[in-house]
Amino acid sequence: MTPFDFADFRRHFPALAADNSDTPCYLDSAATALTPQPVIQATVNYYQNAGATVHRSQHKAAQSLTQRFEQTRAQVAEFINAPRAEDIVWTRGTTESINLVAQSYLRPRLQPGDEIIVSPFEHHANLVPWLMLAEQCRARVVTLPLNDQYLPDITALPALLSSRTRLLALSQMSNVTGGQPDLAAAIALAHANGTPVLVDGAQGIVHEAVDVQALDVDFYAFSGHKLYGPTGIGVLYGKSDLLESMVPWHGGGKMLTQTTLQAFTPQQVPQRFEAGTPNIAGVLGLSAAVAWLQTFDRVAAEQYSVALADAAEKELAKIAGFRSFRHAGSSVLAFDIAEVHHSDIIALLAEKGVALRAGQHCAQPLTEALGVSGTLRASFAPYNTLQDVTRLVAGVHFALELLAD
Ligand code: PMP
Repeated sequence: MTPFDFADFRRHFPALAADNSDTPCYLDSAATALTPQPVIQATVNYYQNAGATVHRSQHKAAQSLTQRFEQTRAQVAEFINAPRAEDIVWTRGTTESINLVAQSYLRPRLQPGDEIIVSPFEHHANLVPWLMLAEQCRARVVTLPLNDQYLPDITALPALLSSRTRLLALSQMSNVTGGQPDLAAAIALAHANGTPVLVDGAQGIVHEAVDVQALDVDFYAFSGHKLYGPTGIGVLYGKSDLLESMVPWHGGGKMLTQTTLQAFTPQQVPQRFEAGTPNIAGVLGLSAAVAWLQTFDRVAAEQYSVALADAAEKELAKIAGFRSFRHAGSSVLAFDIAEVHHSDIIALLAEKGVALRAGQHCAQPLTEALGVSGTLRASFAPYNTLQDVTRLVAGVHFALELLAD
């Protein structure tokens, strides 16, 4: 196993501090990561000390807070190598970022009969906004099929791309299998057809460094809470010319330069997309999360998490009926046990203090493609330990013994 100092990483998480049997065995980081102390501190500091809002009031505290708020935009731009701070739009999360692209970018461009390509690989957040939009505009959602590894089959893309294709929407990493499609190949094919690409980075950004310029992606969406930041804050990156061409989606305070009772003039980008008072504590918490995360060797941290998933899969594979849906090299381990319902196992695991998730994981088409009604998903993060693996395996044995009675 890679010599990653997990104890040093782990000590930042108050939720894991209690060194006794109550310490949670937290294997649900793909749903939401635990929060490290610097992030908690940043949000507490805001409510305790800042006493201000942003982009509105003229008093000193409001001005310096606005500066920090905008500096975070530059910090996040640097984190994903976006060319300009203005290319970063604050949203509530990946879901809202994708809906924003659907409504602000695509809706005005979509004619009846136009097409959006989506695969069964997607989380509902990168499927339902396109279904809604297709219905609103009488457009079509076209399916990019899966290959035998349950990844979007990029070789099928050229035959699907046409003069009617207006967008390709693709995840960087599945929240069920942990599989990662060849984004560079997909983006190159789409661009050769003049089709922009939106990448859902909700899971992917947690596991690898992202360079939106190297990827040449048109839109990139992610959430703070999976990246050790607060809930309710997310990011949409968009190429400058695309963002500039977009109309606002939400209307309200501070997204306009002037209004009459008849019409308004939208603000510049990105404020045009940020109507209303933003999640200030969320932005400051995300700033702390990004700064904190960058103090670690992220590659070693990822290797460590993957090694834990390897160890869990190896032990669980000794159980009769165990089936893994894990993509090799992923820290996400979705599995089931033949003839035993995942809901029964998860209820008993919860009793043992083992926290993971069972069901369809907001990825119903992918779950169906896997040929199951649901899976149990243990997602490993760098704060997990081999003891967590042992507790998971013991918990599954405990559940199966009880259910066999
Ligand atoms: N896409 C993927 C791949 C996800 O895993 C998730 C969260 N489970 C989302 C999108 C949606 O993220 P959020 O709920 O933070 O908007």
